[in-house]
Amino acid sequence: MVLDNLGSSLRDSLDDLRGQSRIDEADVDNVVREIQRSLLSADVETGLVMQLSDDIEERALEEEPPGGTTARDHVLRIVYEELVELVGDSTELPLEEQTIMLAGLQGSGKTTSAAKMAWWFSKKGLRPAVIQTDTFRPGAFDQAEEMAGRAEVAFYGDPDCDDPVQIARDGLAATEDADVHIVDTAGRHALEDDLIAEIEEIDRVVDPDRSLLVLDAAIGQGAKDQATEFERAIGIDGVMITKLDGTAKGGGALTAVNETDSSIAFLGSGETVQDIERFEASGFISRLLGMGDLQQLAERVERAMEETEEAEDDWDPEDMMEGEFTLVDMRNQMKAMDRMGPLDQVMDMIPGLGGGLMDQLPDDAMDVTQDRMRDFEIVMDSMTDQEMTDPNRIGQERKRRIARGAGVEVDRIEELLEQYRMMKRTMEQFQGMGDGDMQRMMQKLQQGGGGGGGGGMGGMGPFGD
Ligand code: GDP
Ligand code: MG
Repeated sequence: MVLDNLGSSLRDSLDDLRGQSRIDEADVDNVVREIQRSLLSADVETGLVMQLSDDIEERALEEEPPGGTTARDHVLRIVYEELVELVGDSTELPLEEQTIMLAGLQGSGKTTSAAKMAWWFSKKGLRPAVIQTDTFRPGAFDQAEEMAGRAEVAFYGDPDCDDPVQIARDGLAATEDADVHIVDTAGRHALEDDLIAEIEEIDRVVDPDRSLLVLDAAIGQGAKDQATEFERAIGIDGVMITKLDGTAKGGGALTAVNETDSSIAFLGSGETVQDIERFEASGFISRLLGMGDLQQLAERVERAMEETEEAEDDWDPEDMMEGEFTLVDMRNQMKAMDRMGPLDQVMDMIPGLGGGLMDQLPDDAMDVTQDRMRDFEIVMDSMTDQEMTDPNRIGQERKRRIARGAGVEVDRIEELLEQYRMMKRTMEQFQGMGDGDMQRMMQKLQQGGGGGGGGGMGGMGPFGD
């Protein structure tokens, strides 16, 4: 994730301030140096780093912390505000008819991102179409068509035509019914004159409402030249940063955004069409600083719950908020968890668990948890309907039978039931909140969140504390 190092090293230096009510120059120096170090190692441009750290230093020393705030919170707030300012507002993207053109070098993720954006718009109730104009790269047509298929959106391309401008023109006409046209373009290994000439020509024909530059998070200082060049050719309204699921640090992309005075529109974090999120500065920085991102998390949970509800007959998450919490509910929650994506991404969004805790977990901790979830599923498959709906009646005899059927140790059954009881307690806390509104559930989680988050996790999924 972008600036991941910043998150953890900054938390360390801020933790040194814990308990202090006053802050002196040496403390500020310490924090600022930590920020500089991590920004520079994340490939953020030097000038930008210096400017940012000067601003933070000045504010931390001059501004009076509001009454009752600790030194740590005071500095954290300033760092948060300055970082939000640095990454800037999200690119404005009204949910209406529009044409979006994607530009960027080969391999930056344009074709993947075109399908992702189309999927995103379709989830917002619009009818998107992807138009593929890449005649340069063999296989571009098939790839784009397949991805658009996975996103379940309209698609236009013409493998027999070698004029991208002609394809763009025909494509817009052929997909007239769509509200959002996403025009994917070709890239090259480097910025060559003919690439720029080609994209300028497509730009004239397509006349997009927005041009988005697609940048690989792995791009370093080169991002600046690229962004400037595309900016000059077609004007860049926003950036999509891709491959944030990798090890890349993303600082180059941030520099490019700053340099072109544009903004970030989307973040891409995987190879499937669903691996896209709208960029939102405050949530992004909160997550980075280990403060969690409840908005994003609430949206993911809500989506996963809906999908699970659709997939499972006779199950409604709302019932869970009212009636008795059973193993059936737990199994469905586990399925919903699976739909939310990789656990480490989900955990990053939970306040108190974000970053800080993740840093302390051994790398394979997540796999263990996932293994345990798989075991739990097998165990539940070996249970009768009656045991699933009334787990309190599972005595020693039944535990042994279930363990035999599932091919696991009896301990696993105990673990499952222990987990179940913990989740049940958590669910009972949420009950009586009315219609089971996820946003409010998240707020409650946040109140209880802060440090441990263990109880919250019990509610979130079967991997407890
Ligand atoms: P284009 O040449 O700009 O159209 O780039 P592509 O869309 O073809 O992407 C190049 C490669 O990067 C493909 O293998 C994609 O699957 C991969 N890719 C794109 N976006 C992401 C992402 O967010 N995460 C990961 N892990 N891979 C991505
Ligand atoms: Mg492509």
